[in-house]
Parts: sequence; structure tokens; C-alpha cells
Amino acid sequence: MAKKTKKRAVKKTKQRLPQKSKPKQHPKQKNRNLTRNRSASTGKKIPVSVTTSVCSADSSDQSAKLLKHNPYHDVLRNFEIAAKKINLSDELSLLIKTPDRELRVELPVLMDDGKLHSVIGYRVQHNNARGPYKGGIRYHQDVDLDEVRALASLMTWKTAVVDIPFGGAKGGITIDPTKHSVAEMERMTREFTARIDNIIGPLEDIPAPDVNTNAQTMSWMMDEYSKRHGYSPAVVTGKPVELGGSLGRDEATGRGVCIALREAARTYKLDLKKITVAIQGFGNVGSHTARILEQEMGVKVVALSDVKGGIYNPRGIKYADALAQLKNSGSVVGLKGCVKITNEELLELKCDVLIPAALGNQLRADNANNVKAKMIIEAANGPTTVEADEIFASKQIPVIPDIFANAGGVTVSYFEWAQNMQQFKWEYQRVVSELEKIMTHSYHAVLHTAEKYKVPMRIGAFILAVERVAKAAKLRGI
Ligand code: NAD
Repeated sequence: MAKKTKKRAVKKTKQRLPQKSKPKQHPKQKNRNLTRNRSASTGKKIPVSVTTSVCSADSSDQSAKLLKHNPYHDVLRNFEIAAKKINLSDELSLLIKTPDRELRVELPVLMDDGKLHSVIGYRVQHNNARGPYKGGIRYHQDVDLDEVRALASLMTWKTAVVDIPFGGAKGGITIDPTKHSVAEMERMTREFTARIDNIIGPLEDIPAPDVNTNAQTMSWMMDEYSKRHGYSPAVVTGKPVELGGSLGRDEATGRGVCIALREAARTYKLDLKKITVAIQGFGNVGSHTARILEQEMGVKVVALSDVKGGIYNPRGIKYADALAQLKNSGSVVGLKGCVKITNEELLELKCDVLIPAALGNQLRADNANNVKAKMIIEAANGPTTVEADEIFASKQIPVIPDIFANAGGVTVSYFEWAQNMQQFKWEYQRVVSELEKIMTHSYHAVLHTAEKYKVPMRIGAFILAVERVAKAAKLRGI
């Protein structure tokens, strides 16, 4: 099976080069199109389209994109360095770096005012050599195919770094969720699920929450999928505990980030009781990171932020105060005793550890030189560009890379999936201690690889991952 998928991937890459390319049917899709899905809202049959060309998707805004940072290029660049270090053959390299499948869907969604809106959603399945595709669903106005492709690729390397039996995928809808009611979000999520239904499944592709999606989103997805396939809790992870979610999943990414910080602090001789930490983003990942750092590790968090801005207090910001401020006003900004700062200022603060936990492309050539932190832990996906990485390397600022540092979430998603498949529940302590084992072991595997090849931690993590994926692809018989 892996063999066929990879051969298709080569063809697909070749088709990207010409200006025009006809949308071509994916071979796996042939049979599935015979039994097309039904729309969640209209009940009508839905044709499934698979994009096979970069140009065919979003061609209208191609010129704008030329000016935009392309996160996929950064992932490819890191992949290429790692592949070269391990002398990976050109054939195998091409096969495992190319996304297996890219699906773009148009979603007609009924708004509360009775008007029909059309929004665009994506699901990119990057690689499944090591197990079913796995990756989150993001709702954000900046979601586009390049971003989803980059994030899908990062998932392949992430699941391999922590050695869990999944491949990599990602999805998203280009939408600003702050402009929509809960009812509209539900209809949109159900429509999206209906239109990607053909390619997801507990043994095919398992979505999870990401930016602006949460346990409620996963409940709708699970319900919509289950309508067609029978009760299927394992089709998504990050569900509420009442619907088969795992204890500890909510906090898992943040807990993993804290383990990454603790281990890196040992390596780089930082005393947890004396350091100061700035965290950009106070959503799922940023808030749990702040809580665990303060309450379990005794670390002082001096700056926090969200989309509306940041706050700074050199004496430390209490997690409970920040949470209360967020609940009362919709933002951490305005918390008593703190100075208001911008998100840009937060990144350049004088502190020991900087944790970007919001969006990608935050640390770039234009601001990396101003970063004063002694260490960066990437809780967000893709927060550091290639150019910024080079600046940090020249200044000997260690960057603990996303494909390891934020892997706690997908690791506990794996525990959730395993519990669903077995219809068996784990206790919270078991989740925490298994996560501890995997994150700690993976940190040392990444460090060891980086030292062996004399490369930064990011490239060490890529080498480890690329070796594992390449080996699995070979064993399955490409
Ligand atoms: P979230 O939606 O719960 O929170 C995002 C946070 O970032 C919010 O505080 C939001 O206000 C803030 N934010 C949004 N736009 C911003 C901007 N332009 N500037 C500054 N802050 C901004 O999302 P999350 O699940 O916490 O994800 C955060 C990051 O972590 C993302 O990069 C995501 O891909 C990554 N990640 C999440 C998980 C997970 O399990 N949720 C796992 C691995 C990686």
C-alpha cells in the first residue's frame, strides 16, 4: 500500500511544474467517489475533489503569496539538510518529503441571517509510512494550502521524533472564527467533516484540535463521522472526556513543553528556580504551559500575551490571575500590576526563556537579532524561520524545535486513540507518567543525534525523524 502511495506522490510532484494541471483523480479515490458523501446541511451528494497541483489551489491570490513567507519552504529546507547528513538517496528523499494527498473542499454554510456563505477547507495527508495520518484542524483567516502542507509535513516528522505509530496530516478552514456564532461554527465543522469523510477514519487519518478548534469541535466531527460509519470515537482525538477523550489531553502539549524546558535547562545549566520565562499566546498550549511551569516547577513567568496584546511583570504573573482576566475581559491585557506590551515587544523582552505558543512565522530575520532570551522553546508550530534559526545559531541561542517540544499533544492523542480502539480508559497518572517517559526519552534521542552530527537541535530532530520514516517506507516496500 505504501508503495502505491509513494509512486503517486512522485507523479504529483512532476505535475506541479507546468503552469496548468488538470485536477487528477487520486487512484485511492476512484472507488470512494462511487459512494459519494452527503452534505451535512443539505443531504445532497458531495463530489470529492483532490488537488494535484499547487497552482490549481488558490490561483487567484498567487501574486500576493509570492510576497508572503512560505512555511513549507522552511520545512523542506530542514528536511533537505537532514536527508543530506544521512546520505538519503534522491529517490527516497523525494518520496517521503512529498505530500501523499492534498484535498481542498468548498463548504457552503448557512449563516444565522439566512444567507449562504462559501468557505474553503483543506486536508493534507503528508505521509503514512509509520501509521495512519494524524494532525490537527486549524480555523484561521490566514489558513492556506502552503500553511496546511507545511504543518502536515511537520506532523510526519513530529510523530517520528517521539516514535508513535502515526504519520502526518493537517487540515484547516480559512475563516475568522471570532466573526461567527457557535451555531455557524457547528454547521461549518459538520460540512467540513462531511466533505473530508472519504479520507479520514480511525485507521486512515485522525484529526485533532489546533488553533481556534477545541474539544467541542472534535465532538461535532466525531458525531458527523459516526452518522455515516457508526459510533467511531477513534476518528478524532482531543474529544471531551465524556465522549472518549483522554484524561490529560487538554494539558498535554503544555506539559510536554514544560518537560522540554526542564530537560533543556539541565543541558544548558539554567536553574529553574531562578529563570524568567515569556510566553506568547495564552490559549490551550500557552495557558497550560504557564500553569505547569508556575505550579509544578516553581518557574517565574514574567510575560504573557494573546491576540489582543501582552502583559509584563518582572515580579511574575500568577496563572490564576491571568486566567481570571482572560475570562472576565476576553484578553490577558489589562491585568492589574502588569505593564501592557505588544506581542512584538514580548518576543524581544529581557528574559531567560522565550516560549512562542501562538502562530508560526513570529521569529524572523527582521527581529531575531533583537531577541534577548537565552533559550527558545517552540510550543507553536513553525514560529522560527530559517533565517532566524541561522541568527540564533550564530548567537548560540539554543532553539528546542517544535517537532519535539510541542509533541506532547500528539503523544497523548495517541494514548486517547489507543484507549478508544481498546474501549478502555487510562487513569490520569498513567497518562502523565507515559508522557513523561516519551518526552524525556525523545529529548535525549534528539540531543544525542544533534551532538553526533554536530548540528542544532532542530536538524538533530529532523535527522532522527527522517531516518525513521525512510526506514519504515523502505521496509513496507517502496
Ligand atoms: P489556541 O487557539 O488555543 O490559542 C492560540 C493563542 O494564540 C491564543 O491565546 C490567541 O489569542 C493567540 N494568538 C492568536 N493570534 C495571535 C497573534 N497574531 N499574535 C499573538 N497571539 C496570537 O491554539 P493552541 O492550541 O494553543 O495552539 C497554539 C500553537 O501551538 C499553534 O501554533 C499550534 O499549531 C501549536 N500546537 C498546538 C497543539 C495542541 O494540542 N493544541 C499541539 C501542538 C502544537
